[in-house]
Amino acid sequence: MSDELKYKLERAMAVIERLREATASMVQPASASIVQQYGRDPFLVLISCLLSLRTKDSTSLPASCRLFCLAKTPQQMLELSSGAIEKAIYPVGFYRVKARTIHTICQDLIDRFDAQVPSGEDDLLSLKGVGRKTMNLVQAEGFGLPAICVDVHVHRIANRLGLVTTKNPDETEKALKALLPQHLWAECNRVFVMWGQNVCVPISPFCSRCVVADVCPRAGVKRSR
Ligand code: SF4
Repeated sequence: MSDELKYKLERAMAVIERLREATASMVQPASASIVQQYGRDPFLVLISCLLSLRTKDSTSLPASCRLFCLAKTPQQMLELSSGAIEKAIYPVGFYRVKARTIHTICQDLIDRFDAQVPSGEDDLLSLKGVGRKTMNLVQAEGFGLPAICVDVHVHRIANRLGLVTTKNPDETEKALKALLPQHLWAECNRVFVMWGQNVCVPISPFCSRCVVADVCPRAGVKRSR
């Protein structure tokens, strides 16, 4: 490992340790709440992640819970009409499209995977509406596998902290996987998401009350509070 990478790794470990403590009392990400409430169920993590796309956790989490009151398996989900799913998940973004996608995915799981969510990267990515973010979240939170889900928060914070210098979430995922030990991958997602929702917000982050301000170069930050 080069000296530069060693330095970045030490900094990354220190950042994650501090954020672990600082986020302990924050509202956890929706996927972690789903696991806490329903156990490690890849199907429920997958569906809740789809509902959370382009929707705030504060809207998508209650919507997921309303839907899971009605159905918790692919078979049960297919017994619901699209209208019933739409009604349960409203007002998540694109709720009509998402209701149709849920039906398509459930039928696909039954047809190709014996009604089970697959754990492999290629199989997960072959499901309708599943991109790398959802795939990684299902692997990490649904199966407990080493995976880094890079959403907008993780991408933004990793770059601001100078841990990576990347243009998009896919590049960030690769760079963080090269930098961090596997046992920190899932936690990196959780603490960065909470920090990104509360402190290192997209516009004008709260650097004055940030616990990692002394080790953060604030790359790309033009205005802060
Ligand atoms: S110091 Fe500012 S830019 Fe750096 S992580 Fe904290 S809030 Fe984000």
